[in-house]
Amino acid sequence: MYAEVWLEEATRQFDRDWTYLIPPALADQIKPGCLVEVPFARRKQPVRGYVYRIVAKPPADLGETELRSISGLVNPRPLVTPELLELAREMRRRYFCSRGRAIRTMVPYVVTTVGDKKELAARLTDPDCVVEMLAEDEFRSLGHVRVAEFLLVQESAALSEIEQACQVSYSVLNYLQKKGILTFFSQITRRELSAAPELELNEQEIVLTEEQVDAVDSISAALTAVQPGQLQEFLLQGVTGSGKTEVYLQAAERVLKQGKTVLILVPEIALTPLMVARVSARFDQKAAILHSRLTPAERYETWQRILSGEKKIVVGARSAIFAPLTNLGLIVVDEEQDQSYKSETMPRYQALDMARIRSLLVGAVLVLGSATPAVETSYRVREGRSTRLLLSKRVGEAGMAQVGIVDLRAERAAGHKHLFSRPLIRALQETFERSEQAMLLINRRGFANSVYCCDCGASVECPNCDIALTTHKNPWQSGKEHLICHYCGKIFPLPEFCAECHGTDLDTIGAGTQQAETLFRELFPAASAIRMDLDTTSGRYSHQEILSAFARHEYDCLIGTQMIAKGHDFHNVTLVGILSADQMLAQSNYRAGEHTFQLLTQAAGRAGRGDLPGQVIIQTAQPDDQIIRAAAGQDYENFFDHELAFRSRAGYPPFGHLGLIILSGRSEAAVKEQLNNLYDYLCRRIARYPGSFASLELLPGQRAPLSRLRGRYRFRLIAKSPSKEAITLLLRTADDFRKKPGVATILDINPYSML
Ligand code: ADP
Ligand code: ZN
Repeated sequence: MYAEVWLEEATRQFDRDWTYLIPPALADQIKPGCLVEVPFARRKQPVRGYVYRIVAKPPADLGETELRSISGLVNPRPLVTPELLELAREMRRRYFCSRGRAIRTMVPYVVTTVGDKKELAARLTDPDCVVEMLAEDEFRSLGHVRVAEFLLVQESAALSEIEQACQVSYSVLNYLQKKGILTFFSQITRRELSAAPELELNEQEIVLTEEQVDAVDSISAALTAVQPGQLQEFLLQGVTGSGKTEVYLQAAERVLKQGKTVLILVPEIALTPLMVARVSARFDQKAAILHSRLTPAERYETWQRILSGEKKIVVGARSAIFAPLTNLGLIVVDEEQDQSYKSETMPRYQALDMARIRSLLVGAVLVLGSATPAVETSYRVREGRSTRLLLSKRVGEAGMAQVGIVDLRAERAAGHKHLFSRPLIRALQETFERSEQAMLLINRRGFANSVYCCDCGASVECPNCDIALTTHKNPWQSGKEHLICHYCGKIFPLPEFCAECHGTDLDTIGAGTQQAETLFRELFPAASAIRMDLDTTSGRYSHQEILSAFARHEYDCLIGTQMIAKGHDFHNVTLVGILSADQMLAQSNYRAGEHTFQLLTQAAGRAGRGDLPGQVIIQTAQPDDQIIRAAAGQDYENFFDHELAFRSRAGYPPFGHLGLIILSGRSEAAVKEQLNNLYDYLCRRIARYPGSFASLELLPGQRAPLSRLRGRYRFRLIAKSPSKEAITLLLRTADDFRKKPGVATILDINPYSML
């Protein structure tokens, strides 16, 4: 017998099926999905690879004598299922990575020793820097690369675990530590699999509402009807607290009764303690929770238990989409609109697309849940490719929060130019007087700031792309400020007045959480506030601790970026204030409208979740803006129609797609040269195959908006097309182009950030 093997670490050229003889001693053990060692080319050491298929005959062009034998089996059992091997093929096609790379993204590192002792551990000193070093091939050996990649995934691990997972010796780790790449510290490694976090649950007997019954019935009917090769997709739409999770769990029970398995994706395990507790309570030993905090050995052990069939229901974040469940009956993606489902490192996959492919491959039912579905997802319903199941109201007494809009224009006209409007100040005072709590949301202060009109709230937009422009200091013109479009790269001077209302009071969006906190303390000296944003993570408290302290009412007010609007149930919060909806709308991203609507809706869901009625106050200078009005009225359909019209007009997803190629490196001249060569090459290919690249527009190369990052010069190419296939083909063509040493390439489709 012969095995077709994919190399674990292969350049594109070597990423194909390699046929090896199966030695008789291993004949019983070698199966598809096994990790094996094989001799390769003139390498002295064997290399690792995954068995793709077992075949009876070698390829016709290969004689028996030319074949070499598999030299060893790394792990006694297969590490991936045949279905995941197919998925890896698909990932190569879509995300331009080798199949070995795709599988490495899926499987945990092979680590079997579990300590329970104090030992030395390591983490990366500067992960961002390591990402760049990897991209530019700056590591000296494969061992160094493995350690770097391992710790990017794992954050930290015991030295013994790293040695095992990466097949390196202590001297390698010691070398990397001396070079400042690794930091050593001591830790206690656990022996037992850690239990899921404990949480008080008082689960009563639940009688499903009529809408829930309909939803469960529809999903159940699909479960029996669906065949491999068909996609049965549902969109379960309902606000927080409308009983979506209950529908997932009841559908899951039916799937398990049929002897099949269930996969549930959530944006972040840490933000969904209730979901985890409910799954653990109901499915007990059958459930596996893939936390990000698992040690390498725990992760490996959990993976093995899923593979062996002991675990039948898996809950986890993005990468759990690769959980090796066999006989999958149902995939649930909760909060499907969440950005965390898109990977921002190679391979840059979208877990939602992976979920569709897995469902299709095995004939599982796909259920996407959301209060505010992504525009692309709702559009699938409109096109008849997905079925909407609606949960129109909250379960029980809790009503929706009251949403009020404060018109900042009127405030300004009355001479009140504060970050806190008078109605908001009053509402905060009343809330604190009643010993209730409040949350204040402010937009993240990013690399780039938009410019907007203080009089009418409109942002300054690119006339070609309908995207808010952002200010950048031009380092080539003695730091003079100008405006740049993140989408087409066009540069504009700062305008003197607003194009909408001709007002001259233009301002950059700058107020951040810190400023809000300072002002808050001046306005409410008696109340206590805690701030949560990216800056506070590195401080004394982790996010989790901040949220817990707030939940225990150690603070009256929580001030933060969008991250505070997600997850978590604060029963005593009765007021949520949005300091500037205009800031949210002025994000330099085609999803600005969608994000604003989602955030405002989530915020409304935060207020008044206990027995207390809630109130939301939105401050804006554009009270008549469609998105803000739709959000205030909790009117998804209205938002969707408006947003869809914009996407169609401007050619953004689902009607048009964007391809992004970023080149970066330490030598500006080298990056520029590679950029020009790549651009010329792509233009020639497009001219040669006009059919395949129909209606694809490739913009000339330009500096990226973040033109220098950590000492690297960054340039980019952007392509637009109504056809996603054409974009994929273009990026694949770019991937084929010869690489230049010292220049890193990033390829992405419909990225969340164009920077
Ligand atoms: P969602 O996932 O939409 O936020 P959940 O399923 O978590 O909603 O439901 C919110 C709360 O209501 C939970 O505490 C849940 O136990 C409860 N619940 C859900 N459905 C019902 C029902 N039919 N009857 C009573 N309580 C329910
Ligand atoms: Zn533009």
